[in-house]
Amino acid sequence: MAKIKGLKCRECGRPYPAEPLHVCEFCFGPLEVEYDYASLQKTVTRKRIEAGPPSMWRYRDLLPVAEERPVGSHCGMTPLIRARNLGDALGAKEVYVKNDAVCHPTLSFKDRVVAVAVTKAMEFGFTVVACASTGNLANSVAAHAAEARLKSFVFIPADLEQGKIVGTLIYDPVLVAVDGNYDEVNRLCSEVADKYGWAFVNINIRPYYAEGSKSFGYEIVEQLGWRTPRHIVVPAAGGSLVTKIWKGLKEFHGLGLIPDCATRMHVAQAAGSSPIVTAIRNRSETIRPVRPNTICKSLAIGNPADGYYAYKAVEESQGYAADASDEEIIDGMALLAATEGIFTETAGGVTVAAAKRLLETGVIPRDESIVLSITGNGLKTQEVVGGVLKPPLSIKPTLKSFDAVIAERPGLGADVVSRASSTRRG
Ligand SMILES: *Cc1c(COP(=O)(O)O)cnc(C)c1O
Repeated sequence: MAKIKGLKCRECGRPYPAEPLHVCEFCFGPLEVEYDYASLQKTVTRKRIEAGPPSMWRYRDLLPVAEERPVGSHCGMTPLIRARNLGDALGAKEVYVKNDAVCHPTLSFKDRVVAVAVTKAMEFGFTVVACASTGNLANSVAAHAAEARLKSFVFIPADLEQGKIVGTLIYDPVLVAVDGNYDEVNRLCSEVADKYGWAFVNINIRPYYAEGSKSFGYEIVEQLGWRTPRHIVVPAAGGSLVTKIWKGLKEFHGLGLIPDCATRMHVAQAAGSSPIVTAIRNRSETIRPVRPNTICKSLAIGNPADGYYAYKAVEESQGYAADASDEEIIDGMALLAATEGIFTETAGGVTVAAAKRLLETGVIPRDESIVLSITGNGLKTQEVVGGVLKPPLSIKPTLKSFDAVIAERPGLGADVVSRASSTRRG
């Protein structure tokens, strides 16, 4: 593949061939895909991208795959919407939601990374793909393995939400529920990967896998009319997504596709699992591992693999960070649903709550453009809101029964003339 030079250690810069490798043998730094930007500069243009398919593969020049027919051919190009109602509620002038909770085959941004990883695993000739997951990755690896006709082994913490378990099992992988938290699952998987030689999407295929996240940032820029927003708020688990969005923006700038790269990257985490937010607040690039305790299981990584690089992306872009309590997470989910009709999972609640905090504390000025990264779908984490939502009104199938219920509850608004449309959004 001419566009790729190979892999390179992020720490010492040592080059490696483009193989299923992920750590530097000399300094143990993580490996990253190294592109031939000089040649890409001659070929990649806005026009060429715009002429591509309506999926993340329109950016294939900047993704590390050779396959003409990738797995997950319809992933990406999710909606970026101008969220006026949410903006009003938050007191911010220009708010956008990048909604990765819809359009993707398994309804989370993980389909971007897995599409690249499984395509790559096929290129390398693997017959088994595997992962350690907090939930969404499990869904996505099982689905894409099915599409690619590969066998899959999926390792999860045993206490995941039902939606994530069922949403994995339906694709018939080998699902291994580990009695431990994600960090323990991940440690186990490093040993399994060494012993069994599978394509572990977030271990030995990680350098390729992680590149898929760049497309989230590319799309924001293209969908804004080749403009960068002033702020992007990103939920972080291992810290890869935020790191790669930032990398994607810098690449676009380096290739001359956008005139500047003045976006500030902000990290959002759950208060019960916030090692990256803590490091950013303390201005300390050392990430101190924690033991997660939060309803947001998809972000519950206590020892984030890319925590340091997430820290660096925030520092370089002059962004900041905020965390959200369990209660704020639920409020954030409810606010997004009530204002924009978007049902996000707990991670989206974290993002909305963090944005609210960053606005309240003045870190994000109210008149600057903000993109909220909504990365997963609420139908997968129904447990967390089930208990706090108003129950339905139960009635008999008669008008009398309905009238009686309505009469008991004057606050419902049934007496308002129903054709009044003056309050509809304009
Ligand atoms: C995995 C995940 C993230 C964050 O991913 P990292 O790249 O590990 O930081 C964000 N949101 C959701 C819903 C996820 O599943």
